[in-house]
Amino acid sequence: MAQFVKTDSGKRLTRLITNGYMDNIVKAQQGAFVVWIAIIVPAEIFAGFDNVIYCVPESHSALCAGKGVGVSLCEKAENLGYSMDLCSYARIDMGCHFNQGADSPAGGLPKPDLLVSNNNNCTLLAKWFDVYHREWDIPHFILDIPFCYESQKQRDMEYIVSQFQDLIQTVEKLSGQKFNPEKMAQAWENSVEANKHWRRFLAAAKNKPSGITAFDSFVQMAPTLTMRGTPELAEHYRFLADETEARVDQGIVPAPNEKYRLLWDNIAPWHQLRKMSSRLGALDANIISASYTYCLGSREGSLDLLDLESLSPLEGMARLQNFSICPHGLQLRGRAMKQAIEEMDIDGVVFASNRSCKVYSLMQMDQQRYVQEELGVPTVMIDVDHADERKYSEETAFVRMEALLESIDEARR
Ligand code: SF4
Repeated sequence: MAQFVKTDSGKRLTRLITNGYMDNIVKAQQGAFVVWIAIIVPAEIFAGFDNVIYCVPESHSALCAGKGVGVSLCEKAENLGYSMDLCSYARIDMGCHFNQGADSPAGGLPKPDLLVSNNNNCTLLAKWFDVYHREWDIPHFILDIPFCYESQKQRDMEYIVSQFQDLIQTVEKLSGQKFNPEKMAQAWENSVEANKHWRRFLAAAKNKPSGITAFDSFVQMAPTLTMRGTPELAEHYRFLADETEARVDQGIVPAPNEKYRLLWDNIAPWHQLRKMSSRLGALDANIISASYTYCLGSREGSLDLLDLESLSPLEGMARLQNFSICPHGLQLRGRAMKQAIEEMDIDGVVFASNRSCKVYSLMQMDQQRYVQEELGVPTVMIDVDHADERKYSEETAFVRMEALLESIDEARR
C-alpha cells in the first residue's frame, strides 16, 4: 500500500515554496517591480533586471486548492458575477485578489505593475488577465504564440523571439530598470540544469515497482513555475533526483506491492492528491506518471528533452513555448502517450475529463479510443475539476477506477 512519508526533498520543497511567496511580498513592499505571468511565460527574462519579481496566479490557485480553500474562493468570484463554468484557477484568483488576498495560504500575491499572458494554452487566460487590466488599470502584454500541430518552425521561433525583445523593452520602460542579458543567460542556464535533474527524477517511474507516484511529480512541479531561472531550483531538483535514485537503490518505493501501473492524463486534482493516492495504494495501484508533468521541457509529441543547448537563451525560451499539452493536437498527444506507455510499461490510463480545462480535455475521447483500440491498453474516463471540488465525486471516480483495475486483470488472463 502506498504510504505518505515526508521525504527530505518534500520538507525542502515546503520551505522553498513558503519562502518564495513571502520573499515576493517583502520585495514588493520594498519597491520591486511586480509582474504577474501565465505559467509558460519565460520567467528568466525578469532575472535580467535588478529588481523585477514575478508571480504566477495559476500556481497560486493550485496551492489554494491543495490547501482546501479552492471552493470558498471560487464562490467569492461567483458572488461577484463570474460564471461557475470559467476555469477554477481564474475564479480562485479573482475571488482571492478582489478580496485583498482573502483566504490565501500564502498571503495572496503582491499587486502587479504589469500582466503578461500568452494565447497558446487557452484564450481564457488572456481574458482573465484582461479583467485586472480593466479593473486595476494595469498594462497587459499578450504573447501571441503560433498554434502547434507539429514541431515548431524556425519562423515561428523568430516571431516569438521578437515578442520577447518587445517584452524586455516594455519592462525597461515601465520599471525604469536596465536589462542585463548576462543575468538572463545565467538564469536560463539554471533552468536548463534544473530540467535535466527533473527528468532524472521522473525516470524513477520506470523502475518496477515505480520509485515515484505521479502525485509526487505534481507537488514537486510547483517551483518550476514559481522559481524558474534560480540556482535554488536547479539545486532542489538535483537534491530531489539524487534522493529518489538513492531510495530506489535501497528498495524504498511508494507502492512496494505495485500491481497496477497507471498513467494520468490532465492537470492534477489538487484537492484530492493525498486521498486519491492513498485509496489507490490500498488497491496496490499506483499512478506512476502523468502527461501533465512528463511534458515539461519535452519535444512536441515526445518524452525526449528538447535540445536547448545549441540555442541562445531567447531562442531556447521561444522553443519551449510549445512544451505543454494544451496546444497539442491529437497526433502529438497520441505519440507522446504511446512512448510513455511503452517506456514505463503502463497497464492502464486514467483520462481525467477536467470541467475547468476544456483545452486539455477536448480531445480525450478520441485519445482514449486510440489508446484502447490501437495500443490495446485499458482506459477509463473520470470527471474532475482540478481546483473546484464541487465538480468531483470521489465515489463515482473510484467506481470507474476500480472497473479499470478489473479490466486490467481481465486483459492479463
Ligand atoms: S483553462 Fe486550462 S490552460 Fe486555461 S487557465 Fe485554466 S487550467 Fe490553464
